[in-house]
Amino acid sequence: MSIAENLAQINRRIQSAAEGAGRDPAAVRLVAVSKTRPATDIAEAFRAGQTDFGENYVQELTAKLEDIRDGVTWHFIGHLQSNKVKYIAGKVSLIHSVDRLSLAEEISRQWGRLGKICDILVQVNISGEISKSGTTEKGAMQLLRDCALLPNIRVQGLMTMPPFFDDPEAARPYFAELRKLSLAIAAERIPGVKMKELSMGMSGDFEAAIQEGATLVRVGTAIFGER
Ligand SMILES: *Cc1c(COP(=O)(O)O)cnc(C)c1O
Repeated sequence: MSIAENLAQINRRIQSAAEGAGRDPAAVRLVAVSKTRPATDIAEAFRAGQTDFGENYVQELTAKLEDIRDGVTWHFIGHLQSNKVKYIAGKVSLIHSVDRLSLAEEISRQWGRLGKICDILVQVNISGEISKSGTTEKGAMQLLRDCALLPNIRVQGLMTMPPFFDDPEAARPYFAELRKLSLAIAAERIPGVKMKELSMGMSGDFEAAIQEGATLVRVGTAIFGER
């Protein structure tokens, strides 16, 4: 199937998962994860109506920024080294993967130099696997309180990557846990911290994530094929 056909199918599945869960499908945004894919694939998806794209690597993203015209909304979803933040400052609309204060400080500093504010999500390692990045569930609250004091970032919600499962039902408890955590954080009413976004769900499990409250799903393989 073509990228356009894959996108149409994913969008139908998003719609029925949302409706099945009694949610407004418009409350779920599809982020097409285009890492390792050429700019021509992004252009094809864009022509089919896809506007939000997610990238994991700074160098790859900056190369694509040169090739791709306006109109694309970029999401940075991968592990981010503080010394690379300057290369993407002002160029991405949401960073999903903020997992430590030093990174948040650098993002605030670099966006501040441009006189802009960066929207971010705090990545939480719900499963506690050592191999996954993300702050611990316990550390999330303090990180959010610290982020709230930085002038040029705005926390919009949380992101997680569950352990890899073939079975979406196995991933579901991690999605439910992230939602629970976001509600607990929202109840703290930390000034300047919003909990309106939940970035969770990938090709193999985005429907379960939507049923558990995802507002952003990050789908790569199911749109662009195997990497
Ligand atoms: C690669 C990646 C995805 C997309 O995964 P697929 O299984 O290809 O849909 C989503 N989120 C993150 C953080 C990724 O690195």
